[in-house]
Formats: sequence, structure tokens, C-alpha cells
Amino acid sequence: MLGAGILGSCTALELADRGERVCLFERNADPISEASLYNEGKIHLGFVYAADPTFRTAERMIWGAVRFMDVLARWIPSRTLSVLSTRPFDYVVHRETMVPIPDIEAHFRRVGMAIDQLIPSKTEAVALDPSRPTWRRLSGAELAQRYDPGVILAAYETCELAIDTLGLAEPIRAAVRSHPNIDLITHARVVTVKDRSGGCFEVHFESEGRSQAESFAGVVNALWTNRPHLDRKYGLPPEKPCYIRHKLGVNLNMDPVPSEIPCFTVSLGPFGDAVVYPSGRVYLSWYPVCMVGTNRTGGETDWDVVLGQVDQEQIQRETVEAMTRICPAIGTCGLGRSTRTSVNGGSIFAPGQSDIDDRQSELHERLDYGFHGRGTFLSVDTSKFTLGPAMAIKAADHLTALLGRRT
Ligand SMILES: Cc1cc2nc3c(=O)[nH]c(=O)nc-3n(C[C@H](O)[C@H](O)[C@H](O)COP(=O)(O)OP(=O)(O)OC[C@H]3O[C@@H](n4cnc5c(N)ncnc54)[C@H](O)[C@@H]3O)c2cc1C
Repeated sequence: MLGAGILGSCTALELADRGERVCLFERNADPISEASLYNEGKIHLGFVYAADPTFRTAERMIWGAVRFMDVLARWIPSRTLSVLSTRPFDYVVHRETMVPIPDIEAHFRRVGMAIDQLIPSKTEAVALDPSRPTWRRLSGAELAQRYDPGVILAAYETCELAIDTLGLAEPIRAAVRSHPNIDLITHARVVTVKDRSGGCFEVHFESEGRSQAESFAGVVNALWTNRPHLDRKYGLPPEKPCYIRHKLGVNLNMDPVPSEIPCFTVSLGPFGDAVVYPSGRVYLSWYPVCMVGTNRTGGETDWDVVLGQVDQEQIQRETVEAMTRICPAIGTCGLGRSTRTSVNGGSIFAPGQSDIDDRQSELHERLDYGFHGRGTFLSVDTSKFTLGPAMAIKAADHLTALLGRRT
């Protein structure tokens, strides 16, 4: 297993539970240390994909969200998962929205119908707030209480949640480290994979300044943005051109939890999000400031280099300012009430060639079903954190079948 993000860690745990011996390679000191750690943790129900006319992206997100908690509950107590969940999200429509309000509402109606159809009993195990209607438009007075009506044209409460990824990382790491069938090899940068006789593979990696290699009957490439690079080195051409974006988030840690700041996503276009976790951490992201680079070549990304090249103070200041223009409570609580601040993020892999402000961009669709490979070499595109646990079970199923094992 190459890469110990949400996909690699959950696939390793699933295969190990099925009795396979799994070797999990990770270049950092811990599992869950890159995109799966520093993303905002929204468990998408498809509301944000109003620019995808096929609706298949929303359906796919619901498919992942339905399975998200259930799969993780195989290794983490449900109680731990539920205390990490946020309040539900508002979707607020910016005056420069790419999709007009009637079309957004038509999309929300479809999301509502799909949720009712795909999640008939909204039990606790499902990643949504069952006490909320699927979506509801706020009155003008409600909107003005939370947002600036000069910038925000309409606002909707939804039942969509996020999970605190920093809190989730710990129990996943513990499950991986304690599983008797998993050999976790950290500080190990995978360099290439080569075919060996009998359908086996040799994984070449660098660890402690030394080049090493080990042989395996099957390989799962779960390296996320470095996945296409490794595939190419192995001799597996990419199925489609890819577009990698480097995106940051600003974290303000507040005590007590700022109940006056809602969790919200600004629709629809290159705008932003605010997430308030139960720990008091507030995550803010403003796309024009926080999207700090792209990589269209599919070459290897070193996240530390990306982070080292940005002015973190400026990003923090400009993001807080931009988000305060939308939700004044952010400025009121702001930096003054935060005990600690940090800026971090990760890379986002998606098929396509243009950015989110292009309505035709493939970023508005996550339809790629995510698996390709050769023999028992399987390369998996997680697509979203929301889909990580469900994709892990599929990856384990695929590999088990390819290896000729019974599930
Ligand atoms: C800022 C941001 C916000 C996001 N918000 C959301 C959201 O709210 N909801 C959502 O559903 N999705 C979100 N995403 C997308 C989500 O983070 C990813 O889809 C998901 O985390 C990918 O999981 P993964 O396991 O494939 O990747 P990762 O977590 O990146 O795991 C890949 C692992 O491979 C390791 N690795 C890489 N190269 C090598 C190598 N050569 N050798 C050894 N190890 C290597 C990395 O260190 C890493 O641990 C967001 C992404 C970002 C960056």
C-alpha cells in the first residue's frame, strides 16, 4: 500500500482485517499527514455541485457520505466519530455567483430527493444532521443576522456536516499502528515500482538516506497528487490530463467555541468556506487567496516546498478580511479571540485542465470512478475525503479479486 492518507490507511485496515499482510509506505512520520489531515473535512452531500448538469457528482458524494461513518466505525468507536462532527453547513449565495439562485434551488431540490431516496432512514451512523430539514431557505431577517446582505443574495441551511480531521487522524493512526497485519513504514518515500516475474512487483523507496526495495504480490497506489507521477514511472499512462491545485486553509483556535460563527460555504464559484469544529478551531478558506499554485504536468509535489514559498501572515490576514465581509461575526471574534493560529493545506488532484471559475471545468464534476491499473497494480483516485472510506472498501474488494482471494 503506497501512501497512508484516508484512502491508503482505510484500505490497509480493510485488507488486514480480511487476513492479508499489508505493508503501508508513508513518506512522513505519521499516517494522515497531508491532504487527509489539512482538508476542511466536509462530508459532501452534493450541494456544492450545482454546476454539474449530470447530477452524477452529487449522487456519488451521497454514496460516499452514506458509507463514511459506517466504514470508519469498523476501527473507531461511533461515539468518537460523532463528537468530532460539526454543526451543519449553511450555503450562502454570493452576488457574483456563477449559477443563478433558481438553478441552485432546483439543484438543492434534486439533492433533497436523492438523499430521501438513498438514505431513507437518517440514522446516527450516517454523516448528516437528522434533526435538520435537508435544506431550507433562510428568511431575509435570518440571513441579515448571520451574513452581510450586501454581498450575500440568499442563504440556506442544510443537513451537511464536516468532521474534525485533526481529531480523526489520531484514532486512524492508532488503528493502523496497532493492527497485527499491518507493517507501517514511515519516512519512506516511494520512488518507483517495477514488474517482477510471476506477476509480482518490486517497490523501490528511500528511507534514512538509503535506497531500498521490497517485493509484493499486489500494489495499491494511494499517493493522491503524486499518484500520476508514480503511475507514469511504473509505465501506466494517465487516463486523462490532470489538474493539481495547492490550497491552504487558515486555522484560528478559539476558546470558547464561537457559536456566533456558522459553518458555511459560499456558492457558487471561487469563493470560500468557514468551518467551526467542536474543539473551537475555526477553519477559513478564501479561494482567491488560499489557492496558491497549480501543477498541470503531474510531476511530484513536495508540500513542504509549496508551504515554504507563501507569506502565511498575509494569507491569514487577507482570508480573515474576505470572510468577514461575508460573515461579520468572523471579524468580531477574529484574531483577537484566537489563542493560536496556523496556515496549512494540501494539494487537490482532479481530472481536467481549467479552474473552478470556468463553468465547463471538470472540477465541477467528480465522475471519474477512480480505478485503473495493470495486473495486480491498482491506482486509485480518492477524488474527495468524503469518498475515502467507501473507495477504500472498493479498493480492497478489487485487490482481493485480482489476487484471486475470496472476500
Ligand atoms: C485544502 C483542502 C480542502 C479540502 N476539503 C475537502 C472537504 O471538505 N471534503 C472532501 O471531501 N474533500 C476535501 N478535500 C480533498 C481531500 O483532502 C482529498 O480528496 C483526500 O484527503 C485525499 O485522500 P488521500 O488518502 O488520497 O490523499 P492523502 O491524504 O494526501 O494521502 C496520500 C499520502 O501519500 C503520501 N505520499 C505522497 N507521495 C509519497 C511518496 N512518494 N512516498 C511515500 N508516501 C507518499 C503522502 O504523504 C500522504 O500521506 C480537500 C483538499 C484540500 C487540499
